[in-house]
Amino acid sequence: MARIVMKFGGTSVANIDRIRRVSELVDDEVKAGHEVAVVVSAMSGETNRLVELVDVLDGDGDQGGAIEDEYDAIVSSGEQVTSGLLAIALRRRGVKARSWLGWQIPLKTDMAHSKARISDIETLAMDPSLKDGVVGVVAGFQGVSSDGRISTLGRGGSDTSAVALAVALKADRCDIYTDVDGIYTTDPRIAEDARRLGKISFEEMLELASLGAKVLQTRSVELAMNNNLPIRVLTSFAQPGEDNPGTIVCNEEETMEERVVSGVAYSRDEAQITLLRLEDRPGTVAAICGVMADANVIVDMIVQGRSRAENAANLTFTVGKRDLEKALKALEAVKGDIGFEDIISDSKVTKVSIVGIGMRSHTGVAKTMFDALAKRGINVEVIATSEIKISVLIDAEYTELAVRTLHSAFELETA
Ligand code: ADP
Ligand code: ASP
Ligand code: MG
Repeated sequence: MARIVMKFGGTSVANIDRIRRVSELVDDEVKAGHEVAVVVSAMSGETNRLVELVDVLDGDGDQGGAIEDEYDAIVSSGEQVTSGLLAIALRRRGVKARSWLGWQIPLKTDMAHSKARISDIETLAMDPSLKDGVVGVVAGFQGVSSDGRISTLGRGGSDTSAVALAVALKADRCDIYTDVDGIYTTDPRIAEDARRLGKISFEEMLELASLGAKVLQTRSVELAMNNNLPIRVLTSFAQPGEDNPGTIVCNEEETMEERVVSGVAYSRDEAQITLLRLEDRPGTVAAICGVMADANVIVDMIVQGRSRAENAANLTFTVGKRDLEKALKALEAVKGDIGFEDIISDSKVTKVSIVGIGMRSHTGVAKTMFDALAKRGINVEVIATSEIKISVLIDAEYTELAVRTLHSAFELETA
């Protein structure tokens, strides 16, 4: 007998028939003699619908302060519905089950509403229930903040609920069921010849996720890595009896595959800001970063170009699309103090990245990447590198072309 955490994403619980199918998959594990906790997302599209409702009212003005606490009260409701529905579907199959909301577990978080981090999960209540053979159906994405309010873990946060719960419950397995049958060399919706990986290292998955591959929330991979808990990503759409091995996300030593580049990721959630003719003296970049930090805006890629003749520099950096307005407003306010002539911005940009642990020990990877993009006439605006990744910022119009070009330049379609 093992203890298992199974997580089902939005498309896997998109309607009543899908929920019935999920209840069969859960029942299979119960019949195999396992203790099972299930984490569910909201029905697909539901969280977006709720966010839009919030945005409409939020647009009425900026009086009265922050609204993130109420945002959480609203957008967490989708998961409440699916946890109850799956518990009913299980009972109607004769499987003992009950729903659990974040505060009932309790899954405790900090107070960073809309992007809260888990601080602690108590298992005192769930543990005996699971041992009694009652399937625990947990509403993903939500928790309770230190001031007793409902909190949410950021978009895609049910993955993190599942991994954190698996760690807290000392589960033997954490299976993440989604609408694709594993982790691919790139988003299979963009490159038809993308290949499913049998295994991928925590480190590579962490980079892919943080660079835009939304198949797993970044924080969930971080948690799995820190606790050395392998995750299996597989599809909930397999036919009964069909082979469904998925992809194991695990330690580097266990991946065994020798690859220079493992995958290509892209993120459309980017906006580029350029400050023109910035005074070229020590401290200006620090001052700009300080302004962004005070405005709660995360700065990602940064590049500075200097003109010796004019003793001025142009500074380009990227921020999340949703933060662009806020960033521009904050920068306008300090234009005179910090000293720059003008601001230009562009939100039609995409970040495309290649990731692979083999990059540590191989040369020529950057050349292959830039040659391939150049051959397709794709201009690179900003570059960022780390030991195991190279990212470029390009015109959003070329997103698909760039992803496919890099995917074939590194021959990722062939095993
Ligand atoms: P869920 O609702 O189950 O959480 P998501 O939509 O969050 O599912 O994530 C699954 C999606 O991630 C897939 O449909 C796929 O389009 C996308 N995706 C992006 N990059 C990858 C990748 N490298 N491998 C697999 N899927 C990917
Ligand atoms: N329902 C939430 C979202 O759409 C959480 C999740 O699906 O993981 O972001
Ligand atoms: Mg998801």
